[in-house]
Amino acid sequence: METAYFNGKLLPKDEIKLSPDDRGFLFADGIYEVVRWYEGFFYDMSSHVTRLKRSLRELRINWSEADSFAAFAGNLIKMNNLENQPAMVYLQVTRGAARRSHSFPSPEVPPTVYAYAWGFMPDRNSMETGIKVMLKEDIRWSRCDIKSVALLPNTLSFQEACENGLKECIFIRNGLITEGSHSNIFFVIDNTLFTHPESNHILSGITRKNILRIAQESGIKIREEALQENRIRLIQEAFITNTSAELTPVTELGGNTIGEGVPGPVTKSIRTKFDNEIKALKG
Ligand code: PMP
Repeated sequence: METAYFNGKLLPKDEIKLSPDDRGFLFADGIYEVVRWYEGFFYDMSSHVTRLKRSLRELRINWSEADSFAAFAGNLIKMNNLENQPAMVYLQVTRGAARRSHSFPSPEVPPTVYAYAWGFMPDRNSMETGIKVMLKEDIRWSRCDIKSVALLPNTLSFQEACENGLKECIFIRNGLITEGSHSNIFFVIDNTLFTHPESNHILSGITRKNILRIAQESGIKIREEALQENRIRLIQEAFITNTSAELTPVTELGGNTIGEGVPGPVTKSIRTKFDNEIKALKG
């Protein structure tokens, strides 16, 4: 029996009942977070909690228990017997249930908080050999920095990628490459690592932040600058980052082969350093 977290309690998942008036259901009025469990610890939980609090603040959702996330996420791992395997925990917080109105409920209602955990098999093959990704106009709103559950442009775009046998959809806004439907993207040009700067046009990925730190510690030159679509042919290496895919090389972008069509040396060296960091944390 799967155990989930709902409004302060750990419950059998099938006992959870959500109101049809929940604003998450009616308006996608909520935020989420996803953390990765590495057989013994959550990777950079504190950054996930910081981002969670920021998302809540930006949407003006009052949930005072954000600091309890690490504890109940750990309980979810234990109660679902996931301690000894790669796993993820998903958390969603919505503005709560109230009669449908565009304005916030008045008086305020308690937020709805739901979390669950699942074990998964990392996609080692993609991480080692790389993936092909599509390119498409960024059809999202202008607050991509908020980890909102309103993900329809992301899901539609990713579905299009899947239907074309591709592993991610990378967005272009005003001629600049922003990020993927559920990942950030990095490029290597002449030994310099490029990625879109933090802004309202991308989600500030926790993996992005850690990969930038690792690259910096390794002495790699970094430019947090958006790459113009018309400079794609200059890209020698590319990779995406996110909590589950970690760092995954990109060998084809919008039909353009990247470098030799195999993961490049800068990508591989950052990947190795990331793996070593995980190994050291495992102890
Ligand atoms: N951008 C978007 C749009 C995402 O959905 C994600 C994954 N949540 C990321 C970037 C990567 O973020 P993280 O490294 O924190 O998983």
